[in-house]
Amino acid sequence: MTVTSPADLTIHEAVMLLDEGTLSSVALTEAVLERILTSDNDVRAYLTLMPEAALEQAAQADTLRNALRTSGASLPLLGIPLALKDNLSTRGVPTSCGSRILEDYVPPFDATVVQRLKRAGAVLLGKTNLDEFAMGSSTENSAFFPTHNPWHMDCVPGGSSGGSAAAVAAGEALAALGSDTGGSVRQPAAFCGLVGLRPTYGRCSRYGLVAFASSLDQVGPIARDVNDAALLLSVIAGHDAQDSTSLPDAPLDMATALCGHDLRGLRVGVLVDHEGVGVQPAVKRAVLAAVDTLADLGAEMVDVQLPHSEFALAVYYLIAPAEASANLARFDGLRYGYRAAADTLEELYNRTRGEGFGAEVKRRLMLGTYALRAGYYEATYIKAQQARTLIRQDFEAAFAHVDVIVGPTSPVTAFRLGERLADPLQMYLADIFTLPQALAGLPALSLPCGFDEEGLPVGLQLTAPALEETRLLHVAHAYEQATAWHTRRPNLTCSN
Ligand code: GLN
Repeated sequence: MTVTSPADLTIHEAVMLLDEGTLSSVALTEAVLERILTSDNDVRAYLTLMPEAALEQAAQADTLRNALRTSGASLPLLGIPLALKDNLSTRGVPTSCGSRILEDYVPPFDATVVQRLKRAGAVLLGKTNLDEFAMGSSTENSAFFPTHNPWHMDCVPGGSSGGSAAAVAAGEALAALGSDTGGSVRQPAAFCGLVGLRPTYGRCSRYGLVAFASSLDQVGPIARDVNDAALLLSVIAGHDAQDSTSLPDAPLDMATALCGHDLRGLRVGVLVDHEGVGVQPAVKRAVLAAVDTLADLGAEMVDVQLPHSEFALAVYYLIAPAEASANLARFDGLRYGYRAAADTLEELYNRTRGEGFGAEVKRRLMLGTYALRAGYYEATYIKAQQARTLIRQDFEAAFAHVDVIVGPTSPVTAFRLGERLADPLQMYLADIFTLPQALAGLPALSLPCGFDEEGLPVGLQLTAPALEETRLLHVAHAYEQATAWHTRRPNLTCSN
């Protein structure tokens, strides 16, 4: 589709026009707000919108750009309208995590990644919908409403960062931040035809990201192309003394990431072993075609196996709920958010948590509490940690022979709203290919590589060794240059 509104520009295109002076940040922000007005009644990507604040930030950005012009200085995201997943703390702005229990919670501080966006000059449009506490794969577990996929309004946008992905796909933000515990940036990016990047564990600060499973949670960008994802990553990455698991600053070479169109000398491991998973034929076709494209670009293709990845689902659903059961203990009706009326302390806890949490969160808390129970702990949680090590070692063994690994992001394209709600296991299976990297702490990226018969996007997943985001982006960028999937935009047919 040809770009008809500034709302459909990539960040780097918008920056060019802003620098030239042919577009102002106010005009850009107005165009995006206009799109939200026409589309979001149907898409329902946002939980909270801040139109006045956004326009004010945009006006300030325009003033600052003029002031900086003479000095030649610039800020990487100056005047660019972005959206934030609603589990990222924002000072003075509600942060609900898609949960009743935090419905009225307004944090007194900004998450570090939010601070970094602000420092880079971004305009913040609002907070996007998610599965409650990021537990889910479809955004249907939001306590408030489901979000729709802009490519097909009867389908889910993926999850749990479905609001962020839907907003970017619909032109309701130029890009957004999500969080990825087991796939929540990559899978919705795949379902919505976008680029989603999960950074190496520790690359980006988790300070102010409301914790789900602390050993897995990472913040990551959802964008319209690789260039934009790289730009956002470069802004949000970096050591933060407020997060003890944040790594020392590691190189991120944007020039190398975004240079060149050929992949000669690169060895790409292809994940062929999908037995028993049931990969949709259109997904398989698109991924195999992408493998051919990478080979055409000069990469040497090698088959790889990750034999312990078949345990990833079981391992993840012990470790993530176990950590969640500890992290979510803080929501007790006393310190944050919702408080039920009660006569005794125990009743207060029971009622607050009983009324405040939704069914999926309760399911996870019970699973997690069970996994950590005295007498069961060794057989469940410890066993899962041991299997997690084996999963990580599989990657190490594979990366002794290959530079990156390629495969599908999700076995299926976006499914219908409601289709998997009754069967949690079917829902969990949507993340079967994104869990191993999360458990291993590795960076991985999803980018568009085709469409199915219904016009729903297919995502290609690339995985690199820890801290090799530059390589990951380089391969993704080369693939993107050779294809046009990322230039397609959904045909929004909205009711008003
Ligand atoms: N879908 C997975 C889950 O439900 C992953 C979620 C996430 O990455 N936040 O836990």
